Amino acid sequence: MTVKYDLLQDPNDKAERAFEQVLEAFKTHHVNPTPLNFAVWYTYFRGNEPRLREEMETILADSFGYSDRYGKELFNKYLLDNDDAMAELDRAIRHLINSIAKKIEQLAQRLDQQTQKLESCTVKLKEDLQPDELKVVAQTVLETAQTLKHDSLEFEQNLLTSAQEIQRLRKELIEARAMSTQDELTGLQNRRAFNETLAQLTVDYEDRPERLHLIMTDIDHFKKFNDTFGHLTGDSVLRFFSKLILKTQGENEAAFRYGGEEFAIVLWDSSLEDVRARAQALREKLQEAHLKRKTDQKPLGTITASFGIGEFKGPEDTIEAFIERADKALYLAKKCGRNQVKTEFDQGCG
Ligand code: GH3
Ligand code: MG
Ligand code: MG
Repeated sequence: MTVKYDLLQDPNDKAERAFEQVLEAFKTHHVNPTPLNFAVWYTYFRGNEPRLREEMETILADSFGYSDRYGKELFNKYLLDNDDAMAELDRAIRHLINSIAKKIEQLAQRLDQQTQKLESCTVKLKEDLQPDELKVVAQTVLETAQTLKHDSLEFEQNLLTSAQEIQRLRKELIEARAMSTQDELTGLQNRRAFNETLAQLTVDYEDRPERLHLIMTDIDHFKKFNDTFGHLTGDSVLRFFSKLILKTQGENEAAFRYGGEEFAIVLWDSSLEDVRARAQALREKLQEAHLKRKTDQKPLGTITASFGIGEFKGPEDTIEAFIERADKALYLAKKCGRNQVKTEFDQGCG
């Protein structure tokens, strides 16, 4: 039944319905009406990003509930680089502005018609009534018309203000998307910054490709960790690992949260062996950390990560292929038992 209804529904109707739901939900959940929150909740209700929907449902089911921080995280994870979702939201916002503009126009027309009608009534009245009576009636009719016009103007003004509000929201959203380069949870730079950095460095290092490397690292068995210790403790581990990366960071590298529990480190002016040593040192440091849960000091056991290293190939290489090679090396490290470092040149597990 629902599916049928969905297919029949005009996409613009769906957009308007989603808008209404967002406004309602903002009140119920006490959400700050920021552009980022708006984008996240709109996408949630619009329902065309299943992963965002799923995460949002987990957040809403949690007793901590939704907060700006989650909003920013979800935005960065699912919307920041999701051109389709952002285009859909943009279309919806513009549609809403247009529909408000149309409503204002219709209202103005209706008003004009009503006032004209009232005025013509008074003309007719003139013929049938005594001059004194006529004056009183005409006065009343005109006054009513004036009041009607005044009230409607106010309503029109309100509509206009909401159109302007939405216009502002749209502008802020575009700006926020352009400016956001930091990952909220870890403070590292985010995936967008990663893409930009690689785009620049791959041009700079076309003549020295063997000096540009990429480490992709992913925490081992993190799903199980979350299941055992809880998502919030999982978040602290992500922060701890990020701090560790930053604390041990050399001059010629930049670190990013690539997504979820996966991080990327770009290193320039370094040999493959330097980079391998950097990854090994980081791997050991993480393994040696004896973390405890904040709430009850319960030991969190040994946390490890796997590492994959890619080397740039020069002008014939692409950023996608570069990342893929590092990813493949990471996959090999996982396959060979995790908690180890592999480069794109390593073949087997030995
Ligand atoms: P593997 O060793 O193969 O990497 O196993 P894994 O369990 O780490 O990998 P998988 O990709 O199956 O699961 C990743 C998990 O990371 C699932 C998800 O709940 C968790 N995760 C992703 N982002 C976050 C986050 O921001 N906070 C927390 N606490 N967990 C996250
Ligand atoms: Mg993992
Ligand atoms: Mg992963």
